[in-house]
Amino acid sequence: MSILPPTAPTPPPSPPGESRRECRSIGIVVPVYNEVLGLAELHAELTRVLRDLPCPASIWYVDDGSSDGTAALVEQWAAADPRVHLLELSRNFGHQAALTAGMDYVQDDVLVVMDGDGQHPPSLILRMVELYQAGYDVVLTRRADTKGAGIVKKACSNLFYTLINRVCSLRIPPQAADFRLMSRNAALALGSLREYHRFLRGMVSWIGFRQTTLDYTAPLRIAGRTKYSISKMLGLAAHALFSFSKLPLRLCFIAGITLLLLSAAEAIHAAYIFFSPRRGELVPGWSSLMFFIIAIGGVQLIVLGIIGNYIGYVFEEVKRRPVYIVRRHVAAGGRAAPAAAPAPPPPGLSQTS
Ligand code: UDP
Ligand code: MG
Repeated sequence: MSILPPTAPTPPPSPPGESRRECRSIGIVVPVYNEVLGLAELHAELTRVLRDLPCPASIWYVDDGSSDGTAALVEQWAAADPRVHLLELSRNFGHQAALTAGMDYVQDDVLVVMDGDGQHPPSLILRMVELYQAGYDVVLTRRADTKGAGIVKKACSNLFYTLINRVCSLRIPPQAADFRLMSRNAALALGSLREYHRFLRGMVSWIGFRQTTLDYTAPLRIAGRTKYSISKMLGLAAHALFSFSKLPLRLCFIAGITLLLLSAAEAIHAAYIFFSPRRGELVPGWSSLMFFIIAIGGVQLIVLGIIGNYIGYVFEEVKRRPVYIVRRHVAAGGRAAPAAAPAPPPPGLSQTS
């Protein structure tokens, strides 16, 4: 697994005489959904990296409704190792919700989130922590290359980031991953955004703070297959677009105006021929009429669909349902933990067993 040289600019120099920023504890959140085959390898690598970190760290595995025994495996580790926590969600809520659950529970100085399939190299955390100590609040990562990713997936991903950066007033690095470090302040700011439809890469860009980006090469998954089906990926892209942009609504308006102008042009053209010597040519144009009827009908349906989509988003937001529900929290050392997520406005319901 090769890690490319970081593209982060030189860290801001600490003022003379001032020491590097202190890092008293680190919480690492790893959402997992049916990752039992490869998780032990990742866990071994992660615990090796913990030894090299400058301060104590804990690992929070968020089991997102797995059915393959992932939770039982993590529970064994939690019983034996006080640094390991298990947060078990009541069903599969999706990657972004699982990340949110972990982030709400972690109270450490430094928060790191990463995938549980081995595609986010744990050794990069050491470099992230150095950048935190140098003064950055958010350290993002960007896949310079993804081993085994097909051309179509890469092209779709590039198109998505180009589009989203153009239509939304955000700056998300192309190929950004949900592998990042955040200071406590940045994590609290992110935690205060409680929308139901979550596109965390966009939300992290929105909160600001001092951000920098590291490049890495994503290795192959340790085991198993991607849990992001095409429909889940399209869903995330839709959340990104509709949560951060009003452009689709503006496009509806532009489409309406364009059609209005086109029909005005057609009327002027017909009037011109009517008053000209070519009047006899003016046969009622059945085909142009049909064209306009169908075009206007189609555009109206598209416009209604887009507006309906936004109304659907508003509807789901006003219900104020929790983003996730925690079924069980097995605390470090295998002990039962306090019931509620300690983070501000409780985002999800939780129970302890
Ligand atoms: N994941 C999750 N819930 C889901 C889908 C995925 O917690 O509904 C986890 C998954 O176990 C992995 C991470 O999110 O740790 C990223 O998923 P995956 O590797 O399948 O996505 P890809 O890298 O293929 O985009
Ligand atoms: Mg993956």
